[in-house]
Amino acid sequence: MALSKILRQFTQVFLAASCPLCQRNAAQILCTDCYRQLLDCRWPNPISGHTATLSSHRASTNHANLSVFSWGQYRGVLKQTLAKLKYGNQAELGLWLGCQLGQHWRTHGPYNSHHQPLIVVPIPLHDHRLRQRGYNQAALIAQGFCRVTGLPMAKHGLIRIRSTDTMYTLGAKERQANVAGAFQTGPSLKTRTRSILLMDDIYTTGSTAQAAASALIDAGYKVQGITAVAQAVFSSPRDG
Ligand SMILES: [Zn+2]
Repeated sequence: MALSKILRQFTQVFLAASCPLCQRNAAQILCTDCYRQLLDCRWPNPISGHTATLSSHRASTNHANLSVFSWGQYRGVLKQTLAKLKYGNQAELGLWLGCQLGQHWRTHGPYNSHHQPLIVVPIPLHDHRLRQRGYNQAALIAQGFCRVTGLPMAKHGLIRIRSTDTMYTLGAKERQANVAGAFQTGPSLKTRTRSILLMDDIYTTGSTAQAAASALIDAGYKVQGITAVAQAVFSSPRDG
């Protein structure tokens, strides 16, 4: 009994995962120090702090006022964690971040109890990028989010019909042009009785969310808002 316990503990030490950000031992997915720094990026008050509508980011005439809900600010360790998720082959971070976002939603989410039923639709990647990366980070986040909130997910509610350039070097106008017409409704949206909650890893200028929402609205769906792990905040209006 004692020996098996020792062996088990011994094995656990050697199998303990290392933190993807600093390679130190991590009891959870991130080490204690990185997790503390991650929490520094979380919004202190998500209701008044950063919810916004997309009305100032209209990509087309068929626009929607979508509310934005996010876990934290796109900076520091949160930015590093999302980079690891997307470019460091760390798929497990997606599910974990989705669970964090789901817990945040359960406390601070804007449409919790008597709102119309929601269905979560992740922003899709183009097939080409999906094959390169091996997973869609937004779908992993949505999966974790739905596990915690109990909301249903339509993983293929949207498909990306056009490959788009990487957005981080583009300004707001170029982003709109880049993603316009990039999305179409997918095979897993069967009913229009639920409002759609879009899910992405990062919300920047809203051009991706607006293009995705436009495809759904054109097909007769209601889109309630966009939820993302991180939201970029710009100091200058010309960036937004
Ligand atoms: Zn660490």
